[in-house]
Amino acid sequence: MSRTCRACTAPLEHLVVDLGALPLANDFLPERSASLALPRFPLRLFVCDSCSLAQIDEDLPPDRLFGEYQYFSSYSDAWVQHAADFAEWAMANLALDESSLVVEVASNDGYLLRWFAARGIPVLGVEPAANVAEVAETSGVRSLVEYFTADLGRRLASEGHRADLVVANNVVAHVPDPRDLLAGFAPLLADDGLATIEVPHVLRMLSGVQFDTIYHEHYSYFSLAVLEGLAADVGLEVVDVEPLWTHGGSMRVHLRHRGVGSVSSRVLATREEEAAARLGEPGTYDHFAAQVAHALSSLRAFLADAREKGDLVAGYGAAAKGTVLLNAAGVVADDVALVGDRSPHKIGRFVPGIGIPIVTPRQMLARHPRHVLVFAWNLIDEIGAQLQEVRSWGGDLVTAIPETRVRP
Ligand SMILES: [Zn+2]
Repeated sequence: MSRTCRACTAPLEHLVVDLGALPLANDFLPERSASLALPRFPLRLFVCDSCSLAQIDEDLPPDRLFGEYQYFSSYSDAWVQHAADFAEWAMANLALDESSLVVEVASNDGYLLRWFAARGIPVLGVEPAANVAEVAETSGVRSLVEYFTADLGRRLASEGHRADLVVANNVVAHVPDPRDLLAGFAPLLADDGLATIEVPHVLRMLSGVQFDTIYHEHYSYFSLAVLEGLAADVGLEVVDVEPLWTHGGSMRVHLRHRGVGSVSSRVLATREEEAAARLGEPGTYDHFAAQVAHALSSLRAFLADAREKGDLVAGYGAAAKGTVLLNAAGVVADDVALVGDRSPHKIGRFVPGIGIPIVTPRQMLARHPRHVLVFAWNLIDEIGAQLQEVRSWGGDLVTAIPETRVRP
């Protein structure tokens, strides 16, 4: 079936990487048999030959994704700090007060808006998962249980809402129709209002061979160039871009109404960086595909070698990255015996599609694994410190991106 590009609607014909049929990366179920029997969906990355947006071609039914969402932003210390820092910056730089309005799209449990609400700044969260929005309400964050769309942006505007700040963190890349979401910003935004969005930067995915950041809920893999084109189409303009450490390398893009505010030197520098990386050329993506194939075969070879030697391999960090990596590599539960994780919500559950049990870090370490495969390669320094004990029995830590290697 021929699909069309999420940004420019040109036919989508250029397949970059086919990772196979995978279960949803965050479907951590409490029964092994159910985990093995999870429905699988094709996971394929395409690039649009017209506008160069890298994207997943498959749309999942929305009820597969939200409703009773298990992810609460406030469970991650690093993410809470990231939100607090941003709120401080916004309050200091945008002269927000009790007459202002801050709107967040996909406001989750209020992890960001509560910093504004605590200073008496009016906030409005838009969050489709009812159970998560309920938690936000208890911390004083007014929340609409809805998907943010162009229609909703217009409706809020017609009800008299004008936002001085609209925030959309890790949502523009996670909706099937990013154009429709962005089109809701312009009517809602005050004349001198600022919108900021955070998305993983496709440049970092390509340069780091971070194919484990490809998953079904992550529809679009943005460059600044593609976002600038989309913004222009909906009456907005990118005025600044900040590099972020999150998700292996993201960017926070600042948007205003077109013609309001000047374009920063960071925008110009990022445009040049993307041009130098040839993000607009098909060969760039073919090279990435070859690197992905190499990464997968290096992991398979490593695990086969460990099996032959009888070495116990454990995993660490039960999150989407690990699910994608292990399933794409065709790993079975015999290859990786157990996965340690700190979240009490993951313990007793199983890695989707493979049925590897998830245990506490203590239980994982008690087995004295010879190798611990750390899925969150972006947090390897922090995790390395937490798991130092592994060295005491001659064990080591291993990462699989951009290829499998034992950490020194
Ligand atoms: Zn396109």
